[in-house]
Amino acid sequence: MSIAFDNSYARLPGQFYTRMPPTPVRAPALIALNAALAREIGIDPDYLRSDEGLAMLAGNAVPDGAEPLAQVYAGHQFGGWSPRLGDGRAILLGEVVGADRRRRDIQLKGAGPTPYSRAGDGRAWLGPVLREYLVSEAMHAMGIPTTRALAAVSTGEDVHREARYPGAVLTRVAASHIRVGTFQYFAAQGDVAGLRALCAHAIARHYPEAEGAMGLLTGVIAAQARLVAQWMGVGFIHGVMNTDNMSIAGETIDYGPCAFMDRYHPSTVFSSIDQFGRYAFDKQADIALWNLAQLASSLLPLIDPDETRAIDRASEALHAFPDLFRDEWLAVFRAKIGLSGAEADDTALIHQLLDRMATTGADFTNTFRALGGNAARDQFADPAAFDQWETAWQARLARDDRAPDARKAAMEAANPAVIPRNHRVEEAIRAGLAGDFGLFERLLGIVTRPFVETPENSAFRRPPARGEEVRRTFCGT
Ligand code: AMP
Ligand code: MG
Repeated sequence: MSIAFDNSYARLPGQFYTRMPPTPVRAPALIALNAALAREIGIDPDYLRSDEGLAMLAGNAVPDGAEPLAQVYAGHQFGGWSPRLGDGRAILLGEVVGADRRRRDIQLKGAGPTPYSRAGDGRAWLGPVLREYLVSEAMHAMGIPTTRALAAVSTGEDVHREARYPGAVLTRVAASHIRVGTFQYFAAQGDVAGLRALCAHAIARHYPEAEGAMGLLTGVIAAQARLVAQWMGVGFIHGVMNTDNMSIAGETIDYGPCAFMDRYHPSTVFSSIDQFGRYAFDKQADIALWNLAQLASSLLPLIDPDETRAIDRASEALHAFPDLFRDEWLAVFRAKIGLSGAEADDTALIHQLLDRMATTGADFTNTFRALGGNAARDQFADPAAFDQWETAWQARLARDDRAPDARKAAMEAANPAVIPRNHRVEEAIRAGLAGDFGLFERLLGIVTRPFVETPENSAFRRPPARGEEVRRTFCGT
């Protein structure tokens, strides 16, 4: 049995990475395997379940054709510049091209120290691994671009954080792991040849239609506008939108202290390390633009030899972002309230609903889901606030030409019934720490079928009771 690796990143010049194998672990055991994803990327799930497959997923053996390496990148973390970050605890095994012709990275996260580990141990513990597995697979099931989880393996070793936790390795599948910070790294080094090679690689891989650095920049701007609008539509807060955590491919990447909101409030923050709310729910579009400006400034030498002209062209592309985002956001929220057409006042109508949800602390997911039925009123602590809005909404729907059945079906497809609620994710992690992965498996099964209401998922649709609420999530490290 073998995997047909084709490692385009490893063919880039040597300053892009450090070639090295993962560090073996003591006693690997399989926690979860995503058989459907394995098939999608052309890998036999039975191979991954075998001793040989497990050894690969744990980093204990390097399969034929893999060319393991740690990628180098830089980044702004909470606005502060780090000239060299890189894969401090991840190893890229290589790339595969699926039957769908799509090229994907296979990366082990938590695979041991690398030259980019700084003070870190290169490892991951079970909690963040289970969280990323659950949340990324839920995102995918909701139709939102994201890295995927192929497998989770326990290592039989302890990881030291605030306490000792069982170690784990996540096998992550991504369109690529090229970040805004990857471009920043070469730009900051003044390595224009490296920048040019990276740009050509990213275009070939993600934006084959794009012409040059400007084409790449406009492609990434559009992809990020769409991605963040989709996050907003499901109440998702990434939590660490540093430039090293923003993918050029437009996928959600690097799930750390991320979370979905229960009760809606626009300034919600979960991350324990986000003291000033830099990455709050309603700041995400602004932060995406800030990050894109860092990408633009890294690309300047490739945009035009004349710096003033380069800045003009890059600025023009960046200035398109607010409108692009607004259009994507409107498309997402129009669908959520059941509109197929567009009217000028739709933005105001949507905001009126959101404002009422915020003041009464309505559950984000359940309120939108209930709009498609007849129970949205029950989501409001002050139902009169909803009644008023409903009158305006019904008048608007009356002007939207669509049969009630078609509208209902469309709304059900735009409003998930179930998301990985924080208290459920933490409950699954707690059980996992006690060696019981039953809850994890059950929750995974539930959140990967997000658009249906079933007796099995009814308890998972319920918001947390008072004592169950999770207000803080912790970093993935
Ligand atoms: P993150 O916030 O998880 O995206 O990580 C930011 C940077 O810190 C990246 O360069 C990571 O590779 C590095 N890093 C995070 N955790 C560890 C760890 N336990 N050991 C080594 N490096 C780490
Ligand atoms: Mg990161």
